[in-house]
Amino acid sequence: MNLIIIGPPGSGKGTQAKLLAQKLNLTHVSSGELLRAAASEDSPKGQLLRDIMGRGELVPSETVLGVVADKLKSLNGEFILDGTPRTVAQAEFMDDFFAENKIVLDTVIVYELTDQIAQERMMSRAKLENRADDTPEVIKDRVAIYHKETEPIIEYYDKQGKVLRIDAAPSIEVILEDTLKKLETK
Ligand code: AMP
Repeated sequence: MNLIIIGPPGSGKGTQAKLLAQKLNLTHVSSGELLRAAASEDSPKGQLLRDIMGRGELVPSETVLGVVADKLKSLNGEFILDGTPRTVAQAEFMDDFFAENKIVLDTVIVYELTDQIAQERMMSRAKLENRADDTPEVIKDRVAIYHKETEPIIEYYDKQGKVLRIDAAPSIEVILEDTLKKLETK
């Protein structure tokens, strides 16, 4: 089973992606993690990525999609893709990539959360992880970018009948259980 996982910042999509990967024996591929590794390099490109990500903005698609595609090509088994696509244009790119590589995308899991809970969660995570993109202003911007750029993807995949909506307000354990149950019956 190949999955994509989408959700606003603070929805816990990264945590769920890791847990689902373990339970379902999938490789967790996170574009945010791949980019954070590239951003930690002491080079002009690393600095540019740190600046963009520190502002909570999207990294140019040319930078991220090649890295994600190479990673997916290097896998033997199935995957759960977390953080990509972020825009409808990226979703179209990924569909072409899947078709070219004979990869079947089964389901797009969408975690749903109110802006208020998303912002509260990110503020508490900011304290724990000290992430540069978790300051109050940047958090607001990231949520706004999610609504504007990323949410339209849900309609895009709805037309393909691939969307599985999950309430991301409960605890980590309850969300995981709900996701596994709904995947089984989809
Ligand atoms: P995430 O860990 O998915 O929240 O991603 C962290 C940051 O990495 C985002 O705020 C973006 O700056 C960047 N990023 C991750 N994936 C993408 C993508 N597919 N397109 C553009 N920027 C991305």
